Amino acid sequence: MATPETELLDVERIRDDFPILEREIGGKQLVYLDNAATSQTPEPVVDAIADYYRETNANIHRGIHQLSQEASVAYEEAHDRLAEFIGAEGREEMVFVRNTTEAENLIAYAWGLNELEPGDEVVMSEMEHHSSLVTWQQIADRTGAEIQFIEVDDDGHLDMDHAAELITDDTQMVSVVHVSNTLGTINPVGDLADLAHDHDAYIFVDGAQSVPTMPVDVKAMDADFFAFSGHKMVGPTGIGGLYGKQHLLEEMDPFLYGGGMIRKVEFDETTWHDLPWKYEAGTPAIAQGIALAEAADYLDDIGMERIERHENALAQYAIDRLSEFDDIDIMGPSAGEQRGGLVSFTLDSVHPHDISEILNDYSVAIRAGDHCTQPLHDKMGKTASARASFYIYNTREEIDALVGALDAARDLFR
Ligand code: PLP
Repeated sequence: MATPETELLDVERIRDDFPILEREIGGKQLVYLDNAATSQTPEPVVDAIADYYRETNANIHRGIHQLSQEASVAYEEAHDRLAEFIGAEGREEMVFVRNTTEAENLIAYAWGLNELEPGDEVVMSEMEHHSSLVTWQQIADRTGAEIQFIEVDDDGHLDMDHAAELITDDTQMVSVVHVSNTLGTINPVGDLADLAHDHDAYIFVDGAQSVPTMPVDVKAMDADFFAFSGHKMVGPTGIGGLYGKQHLLEEMDPFLYGGGMIRKVEFDETTWHDLPWKYEAGTPAIAQGIALAEAADYLDDIGMERIERHENALAQYAIDRLSEFDDIDIMGPSAGEQRGGLVSFTLDSVHPHDISEILNDYSVAIRAGDHCTQPLHDKMGKTASARASFYIYNTREEIDALVGALDAARDLFR
């Protein structure tokens, strides 16, 4: 009988593209529920990388020989493709970086270090990933700016009244996560952008968990900067994107200097290349960039709206199943509320690391720890949590396997 999520997505067919899901660990078939950390990579993306190395491999923008020209065109067009994927105007607004972390650092260094001064404020939320929290902490230390945190309530929502109080004319940057990697909360980034812009501040949106799992339109939300990672959206590691409004990327200084990002170099002066190359110094991750465009095609072929519904359906099912147990505490928005495809929880008698280890014996891969949100865990009175996160190839049966393995963990520690 068709389950609701197979009516939405042809999961069986999708799974054929991911041979890794056939792996057995300890004689049991892998149940991969660690997608918020890194998603698996489908055959067309693996092929795009292999084909590039087999047929096109050359450095870009330097040679006039055929291979270099082909590699350059494919790499440049990949920027257009990713721009289109998130609703940006074109390649001028799409800088390829290694990952979300690098995008955060690029803006913090290239913009923050130059623009912030004592008296200025950066507003973040209590649910930020360390990649932005630690980065802005460093920039604040160096510039004398201050960081303010929008409070998160017990159900994992941002207190928007508090946001409205904190965002003032002293605010220069609002840096917020779109979908929380710990709570699954989908934040009202459009409203936060309006608040920021009302006070002439910029907004940086961390889209590491949203770009893989829901339709994203950076223009509609009016983000000034927006970041994502390829390895969470069926793409390769080592590649991600930074969107910036064109006029802002034009105004800012580069982050890294060297070959590839210059137009003319003299002994005493250098001028910068056009966007986005001004921000891509040195030889970039060419194969990964080209394969990321393939990943975007792969996700669009399935349909981002359908992926979003599938993610939410699996998260709701997981919440239903985990709620059957009195000793499980689920973090984030309550059942029924639209959320990202992940559920973090704690089990009274078993430490999350032990849960993860025992689940591994059942070939169920989840994440345990603070998920790079230590202050959020502290605030919620937890040192760590277990997190199951879902993607296009996951099924309800796999969530049942998770719940079964949790039973075993509970029994072991009884
Ligand atoms: N932001 C969020 C919300 C994340 O979930 C992650 C990764 O887990 C990151 C940022 C950092 O991503 P990366 O390690 O690819 O830079």
